[in-house]
Amino acid sequence: MEKENRREKAVAAVAAFYRGFDPEAYLKYNYTPPRADFSRSDSIVPWKLNCLHKAFSEDAIKGDILVDVGSGPTLYQVMSGCEHFNRVILSDFLEVNRNELNKWLKDGRSNFDWTPYLKHVCELEGRSSSAWQEKAERLRSVVTDIFPVNVHHPFPFPPGSLPASGADCLVSSFCLESVSPDVSSFTHALRNLSSLLRNGGHLLLIGALGESFYMAAPDVRIPVVPLDEAQVCASLSASGFDLLQLSVYRLTPDMLVGVDDVKGVFFAKARKP
Ligand code: SAM
Repeated sequence: MEKENRREKAVAAVAAFYRGFDPEAYLKYNYTPPRADFSRSDSIVPWKLNCLHKAFSEDAIKGDILVDVGSGPTLYQVMSGCEHFNRVILSDFLEVNRNELNKWLKDGRSNFDWTPYLKHVCELEGRSSSAWQEKAERLRSVVTDIFPVNVHHPFPFPPGSLPASGADCLVSSFCLESVSPDVSSFTHALRNLSSLLRNGGHLLLIGALGESFYMAAPDVRIPVVPLDEAQVCASLSASGFDLLQLSVYRLTPDMLVGVDDVKGVFFAKARKP
């Protein structure tokens, strides 16, 4: 009981940092060059998009519902998957991020330009980059909901928001390690995610390695659990997932732009038995 109280307090302390999260600053820090330089294959964002593209196309991961957990203000993580599922559900803890997603999806009022991302994913799919508008329309038509989420709850979504059997596939990027006070809490959150997924469904988990903080606004420094590959594998296994693939990207010195101390990025493909 005391241990549980301590965990809740530590989780609440991390949540308090999120009051200062600025979607515009976060997008600028992480989703513009050099981190999102589509002319370079060693840039972080093209690496992530390639991992996601391969998982959905080469491994034929498809189905009815794809859920993205902790979307933040970003859409890149569902640009491949949106072609393989009938419905895509986005989610975030913060209303500011859910509003930012809605600005692009519903109103076309976003200040952030996702066009280079859409073009790049079209090219990965063997289409001309000029097909980006079709992809944008596809994305807008398949995203049916943007839910509030809290990965520290045993069922992280609002009650009744998913079919009882769960989603066919989950994606989550840079969420769990940046909202958990320690590795055991990260593992706990991963177990909670499993409640959203049907048996036999896939989890595509992307996250930071060796990161202890990131900036979410000019003066908002959010603590992160520094993870290594072995911990990611152990947490997946302890949460009941079968690991199918783990790929790792190491940051080149010029990707360190002063907005975090991340050393690498992992991409894990896992399956709920
Ligand atoms: N997925 C995006 C990406 O790939 O850049 C955003 C990742 S951002 C580092 C972490 C996200 O987790 C933020 O959007 C934040 O609002 C969200 N978050 C904070 N607390 C959370 C919680 N308890 N449960 C789920 N998400 C949470």
